[in-house]
Amino acid sequence: MMEITGKKISIIGAVRSGLGAAKLAKKVGAIPFVSDSGSKEKLEVWISKLEAEGIDYECGSHSDKVFDCDFIVTSPGVATDSEILSEARRRKIKIITEVEFASWFCKGKVISITGTNGKTTTTFLMAHTLNECGIKTYPAGNIGYAFSEISLDVKEDEFVALETSSFQLDFMDRFKPFVSAILNITPDHLDRYENSFDKYIASKIKITGNQDENDFFLFNADDENTFSTMKNSKVQKLSFSVKKEVPVGAYSKNGKMFFSWFGSTEEVASVNDLFIKGEHNVANALAVLAVAKTLNLPNKKIRESFKSFKGVEHRIEFVRELNGVEYYNDSKATNVDSVVVALKSFEKPIYLILGGKDKGNNYDQIQDLVKKHVKKIYAIGASAQKVKNYFELIVETEIKNTLQDCVSAANKEADPGTVLLLSPACASFDMFTDYEHRGRVFKEAVNNL
Ligand code: ADP
Repeated sequence: MMEITGKKISIIGAVRSGLGAAKLAKKVGAIPFVSDSGSKEKLEVWISKLEAEGIDYECGSHSDKVFDCDFIVTSPGVATDSEILSEARRRKIKIITEVEFASWFCKGKVISITGTNGKTTTTFLMAHTLNECGIKTYPAGNIGYAFSEISLDVKEDEFVALETSSFQLDFMDRFKPFVSAILNITPDHLDRYENSFDKYIASKIKITGNQDENDFFLFNADDENTFSTMKNSKVQKLSFSVKKEVPVGAYSKNGKMFFSWFGSTEEVASVNDLFIKGEHNVANALAVLAVAKTLNLPNKKIRESFKSFKGVEHRIEFVRELNGVEYYNDSKATNVDSVVVALKSFEKPIYLILGGKDKGNNYDQIQDLVKKHVKKIYAIGASAQKVKNYFELIVETEIKNTLQDCVSAANKEADPGTVLLLSPACASFDMFTDYEHRGRVFKEAVNNL
């Protein structure tokens, strides 16, 4: 470990991770300087926190002061090829991520979870299950609690379930999780990897780079991309699958979830134990089950934790039932892929709210699913007309002005035994601040019925 006292650390980004890193740097005796190119107005909330902590900062643009440091800690939102980081590289200044920095001060064991989809759900379920089984586990990462905020608190026999985006893996140096998990890899954010899928995969694979024979690498046996380029042969390997039996790890078959350990297999839970819906969540739960069983945790507690985990807000979140109609908020579904998993999660007929700020959506992918599962579409937002044009010959489609209008229409029109699902396949910025705001407005309308 590098001696940290008195070291000058420049931190790029003043939001959650940057603030966490700056506070941690100060606590361990270093001298943090935070720099963010965003405007003072935009960063108001965060700046007031930096000021309250007495941390030196600048905003609006990056000055040369950034380079007057021993090393740089960068936040996940800062692009690898941004001007500021490129200049730092030219000046041969060491750059690490906030996760790397936090990991230097964490005595506990880290379960690092990456992948294109399901990180947040799996991270929270992991923490929930381990906590229910009596192992103190902190959920952290890009999910509300920066790793830096908690890393000093974690004791040797405690765990961190760490949501780790591939951007955070880009500058990994000595980060060595006890378990590294790659849930799935599909092309997303390719723009940050020069549109190269291989580079994107290479960035995810870094999660296991420093692991040794005492550590575990957990991969998705149904997704070739997660292990095709796996180079680290020392680490112990575990996998999970919803399609086939795996020799070491967890799989589901005929509605049951099993754990296999070199030839011996036991039934641990039933898919019905899971409160959260959909096959994608069975995959997420299997990832958790594989880790929990590797830690020798009791089946009964694992089952109970699956029952009591109510999911994460805005991800196929159950809101309420009224007159036999179930209302679900899946505002986080900002692309067509997410709507695929949402539609597959229900057996009951669906009234679907679709539309918003379209990122060039191609709806061919959900055409058959819509035919099979959807009774009516309410089209909203900037892309309402596009949604109507595409779907009106397939299923009844009506444009509505607001989410409230959709909810009251469904309340009048939907038969008992159906579902109203907000799973918009679009970003929210045409009508809302962000997807959380959209989800909250939807829930309020539903709860006001
Ligand atoms: P992330 O943090 O990786 O964005 P979330 O847990 O927030 O993941 O889930 C985001 C969306 O991704 C969910 O609404 C769901 O549509 C989809 N999703 C979740 N888990 C999976 C999975 N294992 N495979 C595919 N899609 C998934």
